[in-house]
Amino acid sequence: MKKLYPCEYVHPRSGRSCTRGSYEPGRCHVHRKSPEWYLCPECGKLTCSKYGRCDEHAMKYRKRDQYNRKKLENIMNDNAETGESVLLTKSCH
Ligand SMILES: [Zn+2]
Ligand SMILES: [Zn+2]
Repeated sequence: MKKLYPCEYVHPRSGRSCTRGSYEPGRCHVHRKSPEWYLCPECGKLTCSKYGRCDEHAMKYRKRDQYNRKKLENIMNDNAETGESVLLTKSCH
């Protein structure tokens, strides 16, 4: 008999943890792929943004990110003849 581990995922909105059991420690198969949730340090809103802030407050970080990406793109275009860019694949969620 395999031991069941309780899922470590806590629902961000209700604060309740998942009751599903899993054969591996950590999270159940449903929540293994769930994004991490953060509380925006500026307004306390829940967000799964990779910036650790709500959409509103992540804006300035996102803008900076886009700026950097554009810069990177330009460098890549300057250096490589192939138009393929691996860096442009979406990473969010
Ligand atoms: Zn779970
Ligand atoms: Zn915020």
